[in-house]
Amino acid sequence: MKLQPGRPWPIRHYREKALETDVTCDGCSLEYTVFGVFGFCPDCRQHNSETILKRNLLLTGKQLALAITLSDLDFRRHMVEDALENCVSAFDGFAREACRVRSADSADPSRTGSLSFQNLPRAAARLQELFGVDLEAAVGAADWALAHGSFMKRHLLAHRSGVIDQQYCDATGETSALIGRRVVVEEEQVQRLVDVVEGIGSTLVRLLEAP
Ligand SMILES: [Zn+2]
Repeated sequence: MKLQPGRPWPIRHYREKALETDVTCDGCSLEYTVFGVFGFCPDCRQHNSETILKRNLLLTGKQLALAITLSDLDFRRHMVEDALENCVSAFDGFAREACRVRSADSADPSRTGSLSFQNLPRAAARLQELFGVDLEAAVGAADWALAHGSFMKRHLLAHRSGVIDQQYCDATGETSALIGRRVVVEEEQVQRLVDVVEGIGSTLVRLLEAP
């Protein structure tokens, strides 16, 4: 096979608008663009992790509002469960980034890169070890229970085809009589979760910023 010399790919093809995110700073209202998603405001230096969390939760709220208009019940359930998964993903991405940018303040910066926030009690334990903050205590008990239970439902949906297992019952205190049944994700639960997750996000940022 003979290779014909072709024209090189123009470099600017890699710098597409779709790879950038337009952000309005919550601290000083400056509009700026970051490559990727996360970054610092070039004016006041506030990090945009919480802004991005709120934006993604807003989209999840819209997804739910759309879901409850659907008359196809299978599709409606799929959309509600998808909204739950999006909510957890939004929080996980936000919280990882919020910790990453403060890793220099942690007890072990090498471990802040491997934090995960899909299991809240486990994440709270890591935050205690690394940053000396108590996220669970700073969040109301009812909100914490709602978020933890919802995050555990997401785990079932993502890894167990939505079928309840012993691990879920142990983590949530639900009766093991439910094992083998399909988990039920109520629309109201996800609607409340959107607000609760925003609150937990604000609390986390506040805890990490405190001296
Ligand atoms: Zn700013």
